[in-house]
Amino acid sequence: MAHNKEKTFRDRPDNIDGTGKRKWIKARQPKGKWYTRRTIIGFSLLLFLILAPIIKIGDQPFMLLDVVNRKFHLFGATVYSQDTYIMAIIMAATVIFVVLFTVIFGRFWCGWTCPHTVFMEMVYRRIEYLFHGNYQRGKKTKYPGKITIGLKYMIYFMVTLFFTNMFIMWFTGPKGLLLIWQSSFSEYWQVYTAMAAVTIFYFWIYSYLREGVCTLFCPYGRMQGVLLDSKSITVTYDYKRGEPRRIKGDCVDCRGCIAVCPTGVDIRNGSQLECVDCAACIDECNTVMKRVGKPKNLIRHTSSYSIETGKNSIKNIRTYAYSGVLCILLVALVVALSGRTEIDASLLRMPGTIYQEASVDSVTNIYQLKIINKTAGNKEIKLKLLKPNTGKFFLANYPIDLKENGSFDGVIIVKMHKDNIKTKNTPLEMGYYYQDKLLESTLTNFIGPTKK
Ligand code: SF4
Ligand code: SF4
Repeated sequence: MAHNKEKTFRDRPDNIDGTGKRKWIKARQPKGKWYTRRTIIGFSLLLFLILAPIIKIGDQPFMLLDVVNRKFHLFGATVYSQDTYIMAIIMAATVIFVVLFTVIFGRFWCGWTCPHTVFMEMVYRRIEYLFHGNYQRGKKTKYPGKITIGLKYMIYFMVTLFFTNMFIMWFTGPKGLLLIWQSSFSEYWQVYTAMAAVTIFYFWIYSYLREGVCTLFCPYGRMQGVLLDSKSITVTYDYKRGEPRRIKGDCVDCRGCIAVCPTGVDIRNGSQLECVDCAACIDECNTVMKRVGKPKNLIRHTSSYSIETGKNSIKNIRTYAYSGVLCILLVALVVALSGRTEIDASLLRMPGTIYQEASVDSVTNIYQLKIINKTAGNKEIKLKLLKPNTGKFFLANYPIDLKENGSFDGVIIVKMHKDNIKTKNTPLEMGYYYQDKLLESTLTNFIGPTKK
């Protein structure tokens, strides 16, 4: 289905010329319903980036990746590092969802929700239009002058610094970020260094590398070749209707679809890895079709199978297989979440200890106790020896007062009468209660003297 006589699109991305040099893509700003929708989604995502760590649900942040305290606030729920299996299931389900979505809907993620595209098209490209004007096809862009270009890059840098700070806020929260701003460099030199490195890196990405991220480096983009098939719904040119262009076909060869493309693709050559499914060419072509009095949607969201056969179908074996795996993961997630306890407790023998003779008829063992409160309420935790239920324990500051999302670390001594110790290793089960409700139990062993 290649209509480009040179067929260079088969050999290299459209932003590289025959000698291997960079060709700057100066995409014209699209206009139309798809661009309006993309603008709404893009700005909503930017607002989400800024507001998510600031918004609170109850007393908890809506989103906060508190790496220092090893707890993650996700959509108002708190997940601890101890709940890594839940995080692992969520991540696996997300990957399978993205794969399934790509198999059915192509690179929708790239053009509409990928952070790089949102920043590039909704922030930096719009700033560029202010300084360079809206690039007109076929016309040489007037050089705006060194001062204007310098001002543009200065704004690029300030904007990048702002978004770097918003990104850091996802890890520190708004108060933490404010504290960093108010503190000296020496106090938070690591954060300031990371801030400078991230800002310089992204400044380079958006002022120089730009669409090269999508066309050359992004691993997700490279995977399209194996994820997409003829039934995947992508932005597709209806070559049956459009060709032969300028003669009998509806395509008037105005090249408007190429002029607005942020990666420089000529979609008339068929689906290509560089196409990010942004739909800018659909808007542009629809405007042209309206102008020449032809039906809309010469370029549209459809599959090459559908263009070829006239039938619509997204069903194939891979769709069923990925859907099945996704369902299994979602069931596993529901089971994991419903089995999640309110506290996490661990009772471990003090390293290097065995048992101590407390008196002629009793021995003690010493343990390290750690309890984490995984809820947003304070809890007074009481302990009970469940097995054997004849022993006694000693713990300073008992009962344990656990603050919301807080933790307790302490040393506990368990004492047993020698008559109740039947073997060298007696199984010991400890119960943890809140308001007489058993929240969690731990299993360890009690070492005693060997019976003579
Ligand atoms: S070909 Fe069309 S949908 Fe694909 S990236 Fe270019 S403008 Fe966007
Ligand atoms: S915008 Fe439409 S009419 Fe113009 S070249 Fe592209 S496909 Fe053809």
